[in-house]
Amino acid sequence: MTARVIDGNKIAAHIRVEVAAEVNSMVADGFRPGLAVVLAGRNPASEVYVRGKVKSSEEVGIYSEKHTPPETVSTAELLALVDELNHRDEIDGILVQLPLPRQVDAKKVLLAVDPAKDVDGFHPMNVGFLSTQRPGLVACTPAGVMEILKRSDIPIAGQEAVVVGRSDIVGKPVAMLLLNANATVTVCHSKTRDLPGVCRRADILIAAIGRAGMITPDFVKPNATVIDVGMNKVTDRSEFDRLFAGNQKREATFLAKGSTLVGDVHPDVAEVAGAITPVPGGVGPLTIAMLMANTVKAAKLRRASAVPETSST
Ligand code: NAP
Repeated sequence: MTARVIDGNKIAAHIRVEVAAEVNSMVADGFRPGLAVVLAGRNPASEVYVRGKVKSSEEVGIYSEKHTPPETVSTAELLALVDELNHRDEIDGILVQLPLPRQVDAKKVLLAVDPAKDVDGFHPMNVGFLSTQRPGLVACTPAGVMEILKRSDIPIAGQEAVVVGRSDIVGKPVAMLLLNANATVTVCHSKTRDLPGVCRRADILIAAIGRAGMITPDFVKPNATVIDVGMNKVTDRSEFDRLFAGNQKREATFLAKGSTLVGDVHPDVAEVAGAITPVPGGVGPLTIAMLMANTVKAAKLRRASAVPETSST
């Protein structure tokens, strides 16, 4: 058996089209949602992510602006910037790109973001809203995982869901969203006993670990849905062979770039699972699409307007 491969790019494109339509109707009503991205310092990976976020905003018609304080920025200076953005009415979403420079108290800065503009969904108030099922802003990657499941017609209610990983940004919120959608949820971590055995109970297995190809076929119940959140760069030849021996397309990328991107799920899992998300092209594209959806949602929630709810938020 070979799993159905879920196309995250296609799902993300649908969401972007829906968001663009909502932005159009908001503009017709007299306002354009706005996103402010704060990129402190010069982290090359963060620069790439932020470029993608700004470009995506432009594509769906969201006003965006980028703030680039220097590497030497202090906590007080960032707090002042966040405060200014909190008070500007045309800004609906504030995204502080992590990691922040070492001297900055990141928790303090994130806590200062107005929860109504917290499009990353990391503020404790939004985390509380999620766990008490109140309207709020949900972290983008976990929200994207739910969109993948829903839009791929994967049943959730009553299903056994196992989440491997308990981070604040992925594992915990994804577990809470699955619970809210009436799955029976187990959350695993580095101290979990018999991880393969627990994972084999899953109808829906979510891997958010950060370890290349750790989920092998023996972790997976036949026909289960496997969602791979992991993004790991493999540079080591023997690690590459463990994951992709015989895969000529990957071999070509690996030889050309000296690395390849791999999830937390071993490619052989596709022989056991019923449906699976690839890396790249699975969960990744949903993260930015959900940031766009969150910005529109923030604009709507803040204005408490009569614009109908999107199915993607
Ligand atoms: P994280 O904060 O490092 O958390 C990793 C989790 O995995 C922890 O809960 C850890 O357990 C658990 N874990 C580590 N080794 C384990 C093992 N051997 N057995 C069982 N559990 C283990 O990572 P994260 O920020 O959640 O990210 C997870 C992955 O998702 C990374 O690859 C990251 O790059 C990727 N990611 C992708 C996107 C996207 O847009 N696609 C967005 C965010 C993150 P403990 O709590 O016990 O340490």
